Amino acid sequence: MRVLIVGGVAGGASTAARLRRLDESAEIVLFERSAYVSYANCGLPYYIGGTIAERDRLFVQTPEGFRRTFAIDVRTGHEVLAIERSQRSITVRDLNSGDTSVEPYDVLVLSPGAEPIRPPIPGVDLPGIYTLRSVADTDRIKAAIDDAQPRHAVVVGAGFIGLEMAENLQQRGVAVTVVEMAPQVMGTVDPEIAAAVHRELADRGAGLYLGNGVASFERSDGRLSVHLTSGKALSADMVILSIGVRPDASLAREAGLTIGTTGGIWVDSTLRTSDASIYACGDAVEFPNPITAQPTLSLLAGPANKQGRIVADNIVARSKGNAAREYSGSIQTAIAKVFDLTVATTGASQSLLHRLSVEHRSVVTHSGSHAGYYPGAAPLTIKTIFHPSNRRVLGAQIVGTVGVDKRIDLIASVVRRGGTIDDLAEIEHAYAPPFASAKDPVNIAGFVAQNVLAGRSRHLQWYQLDDADRATTTIVDVRSREEYALGAIRGAINVPLDQLRARAHEIPRDRSVVVYCAVGQRAYNAERILRQLGYSDVANLSGGYRTYALATTAQGNEIELGADQQQASSGCRDSTDAAGAILADALARTEPAPPVLQVDACGLQCPGPILKLKTAIDTLESGARLELTATDPGFSSDVASWCNMTGNRLIDLTSTNGVVRALVEKPHPAVRTQSDTGAATHNGSTIVVFSDDMDRALASLVIANGAASAGRQVTLFFTFWGLSLLKNDRKPKVRKDLVGRMFGWMLPDSIDGLKLSKMNFGGVGAALMKARMKQQRVDPIAAMLQTARDAGTRLVACHMSMGVMGVAREELIDGVEIGGVASYLEATETAGLNLFI
Ligand code: FAD
Repeated sequence: MRVLIVGGVAGGASTAARLRRLDESAEIVLFERSAYVSYANCGLPYYIGGTIAERDRLFVQTPEGFRRTFAIDVRTGHEVLAIERSQRSITVRDLNSGDTSVEPYDVLVLSPGAEPIRPPIPGVDLPGIYTLRSVADTDRIKAAIDDAQPRHAVVVGAGFIGLEMAENLQQRGVAVTVVEMAPQVMGTVDPEIAAAVHRELADRGAGLYLGNGVASFERSDGRLSVHLTSGKALSADMVILSIGVRPDASLAREAGLTIGTTGGIWVDSTLRTSDASIYACGDAVEFPNPITAQPTLSLLAGPANKQGRIVADNIVARSKGNAAREYSGSIQTAIAKVFDLTVATTGASQSLLHRLSVEHRSVVTHSGSHAGYYPGAAPLTIKTIFHPSNRRVLGAQIVGTVGVDKRIDLIASVVRRGGTIDDLAEIEHAYAPPFASAKDPVNIAGFVAQNVLAGRSRHLQWYQLDDADRATTTIVDVRSREEYALGAIRGAINVPLDQLRARAHEIPRDRSVVVYCAVGQRAYNAERILRQLGYSDVANLSGGYRTYALATTAQGNEIELGADQQQASSGCRDSTDAAGAILADALARTEPAPPVLQVDACGLQCPGPILKLKTAIDTLESGARLELTATDPGFSSDVASWCNMTGNRLIDLTSTNGVVRALVEKPHPAVRTQSDTGAATHNGSTIVVFSDDMDRALASLVIANGAASAGRQVTLFFTFWGLSLLKNDRKPKVRKDLVGRMFGWMLPDSIDGLKLSKMNFGGVGAALMKARMKQQRVDPIAAMLQTARDAGTRLVACHMSMGVMGVAREELIDGVEIGGVASYLEATETAGLNLFI
């Protein structure tokens, strides 16, 4: 039997080696266009980046090795030009000599792979624009980096390979901008998972232009201009085109073999083409997806290798008159490393199922990679997609820094055999604290899905929240007050879980209720409490605030990467407070370095790291520092916000392998910088109290006390009628002119004499309001003002208004500053919140 194989890498090489192991007598000839066989395509980006240092390591086998070990006739540098099916022969050109020959076959195997798409964009063939498929491409790109030392590259296309290239280019010191036509990277994952990748790219200083195609390329003065469809032009020294691949099916097409709807070579379940003597495997074939039943290209090395093996088995089986093996299809399990993140997917995405109108449900869960009490645990996010009736797991996506691979493999094995969410819930995994938790993240995903299908919990997705009719929906944030202050969903009320039973009356029963917490677990408890209290329409925001905030924030990172910026673009050091760093340097030069308290918050999920930070900082002397390590990915933004809010100084913020390290200093009283006073941090709140209406005064004081309790420096600036709030009960004798006396008659005597802005009814309305406040245990206004003073709120009386209204200093309560507009403006400069009431 003479077997000819076209293509000598994943599928072709696997077929050849297996065939020889099964049939020592077969004549096997392998034709490969390039100079190499059986090389590691998947390692090419890492060789360019330098992680794989030796080029030889890319070659799993050499042509000589194949000949020696397997007695296979390997012909590299040979391109197969045509298949003459009626003759059972192929035409081959020796690319070195240019000679062509005709080679007869008994069986032909096609594994020609896929070719990078190079769209007809003006300028696409300019020097400096590369695609990556082969070793030769790799050598060209690597040489360009080694020789020309480019400073800025644009990667067009944010699929797995494009993102791997972005990381590896940056590893070589090349600043990278990624351009993607779709609104998200990695089209095989859903938007909330892609959002984590967007954040990672931004944290790493990579530019990211989403929803932007390339209109044209231009070259001048040795640099390329990448003109985007939005009109923006990016300047670069090199461009990597990575916008996808298409099956290399031209040989098959020209030979009249059936081509499928995807453009891949059609094969039957035994991987035989429409010609009984020709098999095909790898990237070039299409095969029904086991989940969607749709013809699909798999474009992955694992399926190509496994198909090659089946092809060899079937060639031998049929030659002996035995039954052939069936291939069951690829569920598209894939994984990629993007800087410190790992992103993995298996089965169908929600977006795909939605497009195909396949009924499904999904849940998003966040868990630790191993027991939180054992060092080094890191959070991972799992999106699980399942069928509501037959409970089958249809797909899953995972993003995190540690342990993503083994979880996706566990779930893939369930998806592969048509397993259900109950299989996920019960799947048995190896557990000891360094490796997992007793309930693995995969189990948790199964539990949550079970609760949804049992009706114990209803999950609302992040994208459904904005659709919820806000007029008839109460959004309840059951996180702690501190977490809520760090950022919350617009319009949400904060009822921490442990206060929920006591404060349930604040949540109307006649409205829909959406509860959320950081990741969904506390909200599930809240959902259960509310349902058992008789609330009938309650939903839990899937994945909690972490998923919502990530998915709803601006996704791109449209920064200008100048040619000199690349060194600044790694790690989250970008978010370092520059003023803090300068101060730190100054302190370091003048004083011995203060001891740094080490705090390990790895494995804790939000708000754990922040709460740990607060507790630890409270124990420090002024000027002392602590270094906190955390694996919660939200911590890098939380710590910056928290420091801004509390006036602590973020000296440094770095991230390595998913561990965020924050160096925080408690403010040094001796050295005050702009950021200490809030100028840089906008940690203050100012409220202009203009009105002497009781209800407006109430509103001012409620907000002021709320802001003060969140650690803000609050300034109340009392002007015109608002001065009435500051009037003392004592009535000192003050000389006033006529106008002053007239205003004195019109203004209330004291804070107790304030009237309602509406329905005052000669003071009856105000009295009713006070009674109601007492009944509802709301402090009287005077007590609120005292609370504000106790919390350190600045009370500033407007000097000019006092003059105009004839109010004397002696008439005001103690502790009031008399200030002009400058006092107010100074306060506003340090404030992130400025209100006029
Ligand atoms: P290939 O491995 O591409 O081999 C096809 C070969 O056929 C080529 O060498 C070509 O020169 C030859 N050929 C084509 N036509 C002819 C002809 N007419 N005559 C002679 N020879 C011909 N997959 C993963 O699962 N994980 C990864 O991490 C991953 N990373 C990747 C990174 C890169 C940079 C690339 C390019 C691919 C990556 N892949 C990855 C995809 C994976 O490499 C492919 O799915 C797999 O190699 C497909 O195997 P194949 O045999 O179908 O085609």
